[in-house]
Amino acid sequence: MREGDTVQELCIICRKESDEFSDEHVIPDSLGGYYHIYSVCKTCNSNMGSYVDSKLVNHSFSEFQRFLLGWKGKSSKLPNPFSGTHSLSEDAEKKIQVRLDKDNNLLPYSVTSVAYEEVEDGLTKVNICVDASDEKKLDDILKKISKKMRVPLEGLEKIDRKVETLERPSIKCSMSIDLDDFKVGLLKIAYEFAVDTVGEYFLDPEAVEISKVLKSADYSSVEKYVALGNGFDHSLFDSLREYIDLECRKHYLILLGTESHGLLCLIHLHGMFSVGVTLSNSSYSETMAVIGVNDIDGKSFRKVSMLDLMTEIFSPPELRFQYYFETENDMREFVELQSQDDFCFFREGDRIPTFDRGGVAMPSDIYEIMKNSEHLVNTEGTDEGGIVNSFPLPDEIFVKILPSGKLVQVVSVREEIRKISKL
Ligand SMILES: [Zn+2]
Repeated sequence: MREGDTVQELCIICRKESDEFSDEHVIPDSLGGYYHIYSVCKTCNSNMGSYVDSKLVNHSFSEFQRFLLGWKGKSSKLPNPFSGTHSLSEDAEKKIQVRLDKDNNLLPYSVTSVAYEEVEDGLTKVNICVDASDEKKLDDILKKISKKMRVPLEGLEKIDRKVETLERPSIKCSMSIDLDDFKVGLLKIAYEFAVDTVGEYFLDPEAVEISKVLKSADYSSVEKYVALGNGFDHSLFDSLREYIDLECRKHYLILLGTESHGLLCLIHLHGMFSVGVTLSNSSYSETMAVIGVNDIDGKSFRKVSMLDLMTEIFSPPELRFQYYFETENDMREFVELQSQDDFCFFREGDRIPTFDRGGVAMPSDIYEIMKNSEHLVNTEGTDEGGIVNSFPLPDEIFVKILPSGKLVQVVSVREEIRKISKL
């Protein structure tokens, strides 16, 4: 069996062979997802949408976020996070809905109410309350009342008509928040990202279990895997804030192969959810870290390796030498030379050759010596999120400076790597 065969032939959810694979959004498209895979069969794709993604997409937090950011779903309509019937804060009897007009502005709507009140023998007062937009329905309502009370329409006396305008009404909403089931959608994201990124993970016994949980949308088994964080607490990502931009409109998937915790996937869906998913007890430590960046504004998804991360967010290393001068005069002379425009170190290509006191070339250049003394390195973080590595040099080592050709003794090297951006 060649590598990748399994993934190409079998659906990664039902694990059956299929001829009909379809475009699966790892992150639902209505949450701004641009990560597509083609290893889920048509049936499973449809089931994922109905029973797994829907828990995430229709979660009240997602609805708020989609509403605020204007993300339309498949129906190309914005969700209304205030759907349902609520009441006025100052009058709990008054039922109010909050509707979206065609421009997606929020509009309070007074729910039609009809209340009967026996005021004296044989006389009933009827209070009808309608929204201004429903005024034309009043006649129909009166007809219904006359039928119900068995009084001819002309027998109903219209006594009072009151128009009330509510300026900036305060509305009391209650809403239900799902604390658990939505996590199945996060488990799916983590699983699909892992299978798509680490080919052999598909055959892992825990991957087999997770695909069963997803296929049957078994919400009760999800907690076992989506175990880090409560879903809403973004502090899980605090230690990564230096490197990834949690404030911008991006979703991050971070796949980590760790010796201590096995294969983990950290998920941060901007403004909504943050969790850690345990995918396997096996370490997959050769995976190290792969970061999936879903850029909502850039409408793109890309995977970034740890190495790419380093080159993208850190500057190339800059070397600074620390010197030893035997006399103060030597030091002054060097400072003078260093200030001149044509000052530079003698190089041979990428190498900075080293010499002994007598000017005889030594076998290793500066970079080789730094590499060999890596066990002595002292690494510090800078306030700006950069890194400084200090390499003490073991012997008397000299480098040549140009244009004078003089030798100067170097006692240690500071390698400075500045942080220049976030992922
Ligand atoms: Zn399938």
